[in-house]
Amino acid sequence: MTSADYLVVGGGIAGSVLAWTLDQAGCRVVLANASGLPMASGVAAGIVNPLTGRKLVRTWRADDLFPFLHQFYQNLETKLGASFFHPMPIYRPYRSLAEKTDYETFTAQPEVAPYVLQQADEESLSPYIENSFGGLTVGQGGWVSIPEAIKSIGLHFLEKEQFVVSEIKYNELTVSDKSVCWQDVTFKKVLFCDGPHARENPFFSWLPYNVVKGQILTARVAHYPIRQLVNQGAFILPINDTTIRIGATYSWHDLDWQTSADGRAFLETKVRGLLKIPYEVIGQSAGIRPATKDRRPFIGLHPHYPAVGIFGGFGSKGVSLTPYLARQFARFLIHREDLDPEVNIQRCLSLL
Ligand SMILES: Cc1cc2nc3c(=O)[nH]c(=O)nc-3n(C[C@H](O)[C@H](O)[C@H](O)COP(=O)(O)OP(=O)(O)OC[C@H]3O[C@@H](n4cnc5c(N)ncnc54)[C@H](O)[C@@H]3O)c2cc1C
Repeated sequence: MTSADYLVVGGGIAGSVLAWTLDQAGCRVVLANASGLPMASGVAAGIVNPLTGRKLVRTWRADDLFPFLHQFYQNLETKLGASFFHPMPIYRPYRSLAEKTDYETFTAQPEVAPYVLQQADEESLSPYIENSFGGLTVGQGGWVSIPEAIKSIGLHFLEKEQFVVSEIKYNELTVSDKSVCWQDVTFKKVLFCDGPHARENPFFSWLPYNVVKGQILTARVAHYPIRQLVNQGAFILPINDTTIRIGATYSWHDLDWQTSADGRAFLETKVRGLLKIPYEVIGQSAGIRPATKDRRPFIGLHPHYPAVGIFGGFGSKGVSLTPYLARQFARFLIHREDLDPEVNIQRCLSLL
């Protein structure tokens, strides 16, 4: 190969979804991922949840993102002959009667109401989950097994001989206004999807990141037949009948990829208030979320190097944001359609 359209750097959820979207639009894409660098996507629980936080706030652009992501991951599974998307409701038990009243007020709002399902099956939940005050159920949720999704996309590119397991060193790129050359292959553009590593990327280190460390536990249980996510201060994600994941912590300090006793203690305290059955922790992992100061992704082309782009800054919502925004970025790249100003890196120009 001597030329291709795009070199996508980073094979986490962002790079994989973008590379797939461009490939399906007919572009020739090389996907490169460094095996030696840590990856947030390898740690993430993969949850998609349209109503988040204590006040059940509707996720930014949820009305566009959620219908699109359900279709996207289902279609991806069909095309790749794989199974990694698990749509399921999200149960939010009330912690008190006062909270029940508050939640009834929040869920009556017209922008929130469409995401709330009418009935929660309290009886089948109560042997396993603390729900003395009842709870509500959020629709359009679920989770993606990200390692399986990105592996399937990676295989697709491997079969086309368009996958490279290599760290792309910045000084190995020859950048001009119209192209980028790497190892004798000329690309129209290089698109960085390097997640939290973008902070060390000389092209994009000026962008205002505000990364957040997170930790998560994997636990074994004797029998857990609940096929819903449970979320109340922490989440319980059912992997199968005997394995659950418990998460997650948020820390703006000690920004490394190491697990900690404090992180485990915090999550265990939370889960003890939620889960009624015994569990045994069998794993713990830590990662860095590529969050941004204004909590919006970083998408677009470098103001001085139009052949260099970025698709990143997805914070704690990479799974829900990337499908819709990859389509938008692809349309921008291929058809010169506008990017949403809220995600376009042009908004940060004064920092360059
Ligand atoms: C504990 C925890 C729980 C989370 N839970 C959820 C959740 O439930 N739902 C959700 O949506 N999100 C969740 N997240 C956030 C999620 O992890 C991120 O939004 C998402 O993974 C970011 O994906 P990314 O592809 O941008 O970055 P990454 O997954 O970090 O991928 C970046 C990739 O780029 C590669 N790379 C970097 N530089 C180079 C280079 N020069 N050359 C080649 N390759 C390079 C790295 O090796 C890496 O593989 C969670 C995060 C944590 C830490």
